Amino acid sequence: MQSVVRKCTGVRADFPVLRCVRALAGAALLWLSQPAAAVEPLPVREVAAGVYVFHGVTAEQDEHNHGAISNLGFIVGSRCVAVIDSGGSPMVGEALLASVRAITPLPVCYVINTHVHPDHVLGNQAFLGEKPEFVGHAKLPLALAARGRNYIEAAERMMGAAGRGLQLVAPTRTVSDEDTLDIGDRVLRLRAWPTAHTDNDLTVLDERSSTLFTGDLLFVGHMPVVDGKLVGWIAVTDELARMKVTHVVSGHGDAGDAWREAFDKQGNYLRALYAQTRAAIRDGVRLSRAVETVGRDQIDNWALSGLFHRRNVTAAYAELEWED
Ligand SMILES: [Zn+2]
Repeated sequence: MQSVVRKCTGVRADFPVLRCVRALAGAALLWLSQPAAAVEPLPVREVAAGVYVFHGVTAEQDEHNHGAISNLGFIVGSRCVAVIDSGGSPMVGEALLASVRAITPLPVCYVINTHVHPDHVLGNQAFLGEKPEFVGHAKLPLALAARGRNYIEAAERMMGAAGRGLQLVAPTRTVSDEDTLDIGDRVLRLRAWPTAHTDNDLTVLDERSSTLFTGDLLFVGHMPVVDGKLVGWIAVTDELARMKVTHVVSGHGDAGDAWREAFDKQGNYLRALYAQTRAAIRDGVRLSRAVETVGRDQIDNWALSGLFHRRNVTAAYAELEWED
């Protein structure tokens, strides 16, 4: 895993993002193929002192990956540990907790969810025994209430044993603007964003190491998925790209030091989607046709475009149809 991660550090927008995605997926699959006796820790990489990240496979959730398809992390303070996203099933959450335990005996005092999507929240229940505060955007409880049942049904259908016995764990502390968490000689700065990837995106900045966890406000390799507002996400992408931070942990994939290029690449896709969808609406192209024509010049740049691009065009069309 380490060597794969090193090779993929410094990826440029035109290189072999897809090759890296496949290599990282292979390393994560090694973990997935371990025998299931004791809980096997997720392979994590220390991206900065005391900041650990697991890079998920680029795939849909299934019975083989157990929902380990997004990036997860944790930050170790002098008093306790903050976990950032918990994975797509309790099984993945337990493996992440085992990774924490392999590094420190300190308790997990916060589990922060960057947004509502199931691959980021369905591992929460594995941390209940730690009695942490569960932290999320002020709009996360409503989003979980609205979608949770569907997420659980999909997990049961797609992940076999890993998708059974799921329970939703909602935030016990919410953030409507900004907040700080002190984990002992280490302050985490949380920021709730206007609607972008979803309507409940939250970022986490570790001030000590200058590491920003973006959640799915940044996709690398994996096609960006529009589930909030395209226009809002373009603005947030531009703002995040200008932040003066040293390390960036995306929600999917790994840009290494080339994270500014990764924001540019994502911005280019979102702008193409915007411009071409607007043009299609202006020209009276129906949605059923637009999903076949809009952004076709973009899809080869991304993994999983077959799953997500048409959905993105549909979301963009619905958003922009009534725009002036
Ligand atoms: Zn997401």
